[in-house]
Amino acid sequence: MQALRHWSVRHARGLARLYDVCARVAPRFAPLVSLIGAKRADRAIRPVERLAKQMFFDCKMCGQCVLSSTGMSCPTNCAKEMRNGPCGGVRENGHCEVDPAMRCVWVEAVSGIKQIGGTLPAQPASLLPIDRRLREQSTWARVIANDIVPVRAAPAPAPVAAHAPQAFEQVCRSGRFVVTAEVAPPDSPDPAALLAQARLFEGQVDAINITDGAGGNCHMSSAAAAAILTASGFTPVCQVACRDRNRIAVQGDILGAAALGVRNFLCLTGDDVSQGDHPQAKPVFDLDAVSLLRIARTMREQGTFASGRKLDAAPNLFLGATANPFMPPYADRIANLQLKVEAGAQFIQTQFCFDVKMLADFMRAVRERGLHKHARIIVGVGTLSTAKALRWMAHHVPGVHVPEEVTRRIAAASSQRAEGQKILIETMRALADIEGVGGVHLMGHRNGEVLAEAIAASGLRTAFAGTPSTIKLENQGACK
Ligand code: SF4
Repeated sequence: MQALRHWSVRHARGLARLYDVCARVAPRFAPLVSLIGAKRADRAIRPVERLAKQMFFDCKMCGQCVLSSTGMSCPTNCAKEMRNGPCGGVRENGHCEVDPAMRCVWVEAVSGIKQIGGTLPAQPASLLPIDRRLREQSTWARVIANDIVPVRAAPAPAPVAAHAPQAFEQVCRSGRFVVTAEVAPPDSPDPAALLAQARLFEGQVDAINITDGAGGNCHMSSAAAAAILTASGFTPVCQVACRDRNRIAVQGDILGAAALGVRNFLCLTGDDVSQGDHPQAKPVFDLDAVSLLRIARTMREQGTFASGRKLDAAPNLFLGATANPFMPPYADRIANLQLKVEAGAQFIQTQFCFDVKMLADFMRAVRERGLHKHARIIVGVGTLSTAKALRWMAHHVPGVHVPEEVTRRIAAASSQRAEGQKILIETMRALADIEGVGGVHLMGHRNGEVLAEAIAASGLRTAFAGTPSTIKLENQGACK
């Protein structure tokens, strides 16, 4: 099946032409469909459509075929049901995070789109989440009947509600160099451990990210942990992963956290469950990060749920997303970032940066599109205590790229912990010199003390305090 899928992408141009011709001819059969009825037409066309599309595209009959805008690579084959470009976990060889034997469908899509060329945008279209009611129905029966359901997202409507910016948003908008750190919620109902971790960063950071089941592992909920931090005077960024909740639950959680004073939300697709402590769990992935951003933005600006139903009051949200400049398809990561900014991301936190040169290349492309003027780019940095731990992370944590010279340098040092911290400080200072980088985001499992010391030693907090950089956040995310 995989071989035929590759064949279809390699021959995307010819297949797209064939699709075009069929789409033009199909409406001529509309009188026949009205004669026999839409249901009967669906029943007649469905088996043929299923057979042909399964053979060539490994089709899952989602009922909203988007093959012609995804380079003839079917996105329903993506284990995370990504609708708007690849997740951050693509492997260095372009294969899937979840199924290492399969090439990422979005890496394939990008190559198919380039094959087709012509008037097709050089990047995947911004697609709506799947409408689950249409599963197992024939797309072509609806093409014939000219009853096409929208699959592409409309441009963001103008905001109808404006909110006073909260603390973290103000810092991001001020142009000052931002420092954030990440904390994992505890494995207990006792908030003491969470607060102890947060206190390590007191006075050192502008906000503290609370991870949401990172790596597919179960912990206290990020919304509850973020509310605890808020009540204790910290500024949390509540991470919201699409892996564990459908669109109903996720909107409810955002509203609930906002009711408890949480304002900052980082929208993520989430890691696959297979690497976590509940590999037998059902991955939900009803939405991807881009769809979640769009929904959260609509809640804030239009005061409506994804269904269109009116909220009694719109929440005041400051929205972020992630980016991974260090994994393929490298050149197209920027297009994915743009989709996120257009969907409403006001700040971006990247995957771990251990390769400043790669990040500098990425930032050049960010500046060319002016994305840093619409969203604050906060680069992920960090260290682990030994070279062995770093190597393990590079091989086992999806989306992390650690150049061998970094692990070699740490392994050769008399104190690996001190050398890792030294590299971290050097990296942070180097990043601060790259135009468009608006801050750093520190991550490191159970390494809070080392990270907090590194922030102080880097001098970044004092060097940039009150000194606006060249970056100034311009708007609420609408990017032309
Ligand atoms: S790497 Fe990510 S985006 Fe690509 S197919 Fe796998 S899960 Fe989907």
